Amino acid sequence: MGVLKNIAIGVLALTLLTFVALFGQLPALRKTPIGWLQRALCLRLPAALKAIDSRATGGKITSKSKRLGRYLFYEQNPVVLILFLVLLTGSAALFIWNALYQLPLGLVLPIPVVLIPPYWFTYLCASHKTHYIRPANHQDRLHDYPYDHVLFRPGTVCKTCNLAKPARSKHCSLCGYCVAKCDHHCPWVNNCLGRGNYRYFLALLLALGILQIYGAGLSYWILKPYLDVDNTASYLSSDYWLELGDGIVDAVNMGGLSIAGVGLLAATTAALPLGLLGYHCYLIWAGMTTNETQKWADWRDDMSDAIVFRTTRDKLLTHAHLRSYGDGEANPMNGAAHKGLADDLGVTEDDPCVSWPIRSAQVIVRTNDGKPPRGQEALWTRIWSLSDVDNLYDLGGWDNFMEVLHGR
Ligand SMILES: [Zn+2]
Ligand SMILES: [Zn+2]
Repeated sequence: MGVLKNIAIGVLALTLLTFVALFGQLPALRKTPIGWLQRALCLRLPAALKAIDSRATGGKITSKSKRLGRYLFYEQNPVVLILFLVLLTGSAALFIWNALYQLPLGLVLPIPVVLIPPYWFTYLCASHKTHYIRPANHQDRLHDYPYDHVLFRPGTVCKTCNLAKPARSKHCSLCGYCVAKCDHHCPWVNNCLGRGNYRYFLALLLALGILQIYGAGLSYWILKPYLDVDNTASYLSSDYWLELGDGIVDAVNMGGLSIAGVGLLAATTAALPLGLLGYHCYLIWAGMTTNETQKWADWRDDMSDAIVFRTTRDKLLTHAHLRSYGDGEANPMNGAAHKGLADDLGVTEDDPCVSWPIRSAQVIVRTNDGKPPRGQEALWTRIWSLSDVDNLYDLGGWDNFMEVLHGR
């Protein structure tokens, strides 16, 4: 029980420190002991340590820890990946070493089948490179997806890569490249997940969930004899729950860290990869990447502020041509200005020819003053909800899944 008590105190202290650091800055708590503790922890303590360091070493430790912070949080590094592999390998080794002789062959044989896939899919996620957009593959990546003229418009150039950004791509400052169909940068695999390796990430989440459930199941199988509770007692009686509590304590004591600890860790954390997998299945079903959810959320906020308008590409192109060659002849600058606007909006007729089955027909803009674009009031309709906008990248739930499975 001594170890359990120390762990409980440690967890409690860590939770308290996190609470103080996160909430101590809130105006409501600023003049309370939580606020004072937050200032002592986050301002005075670092300042005191810095002063001691500058006297003792001339500030070397401070500058080194700053560099470490930059490396950990702003550069591509394998620290989290290594921690993840150490935790996975350590728990699995500890469990197998102690559990193997207690298990029948029928339960031992599936262990390699559930243990190898998480490593394999981590490797596939981490080693993937073809989603980085380089001059050599830039033209191909431009032809993957059409611009939808809502989230992605032609003519945007990445200042770092100095290349036109293909639709659905995003620059990752950690990887140092624009990433094709970027979903997000994942520190667990030290790589961006995007076109090509997103499917391996989904497989990794599934494989981890299965491994954890199987591990927890084996642990339960070994400890089951200690968990036997008198079946005659009613579920509602206190005797039943007291006996169950005693059984759990006995089981944890008998199983120790290697079986009860690993089993408990596996059982309680299995919801994480599986929950994340569920969320990504929802994103796929909706035809979105994680990166695009933020963009859609921005549009939704602007729509509720009544500053978003919708029209069609055809209407804009016809309007631009009329201004250029029709009444615009009386005032050529006027026509040019509107043609310029059409180009600014990305409504060109020469989008790259792509293999994606549908093409964008709509154009959405947000305006600063909440009024439709000047001189084109008749062309634009104010929209209030995302249901008024077509998601070009949503082919329908099943087809979206097939696209992802094919690495597209
Ligand atoms: Zn870039
Ligand atoms: Zn990245």
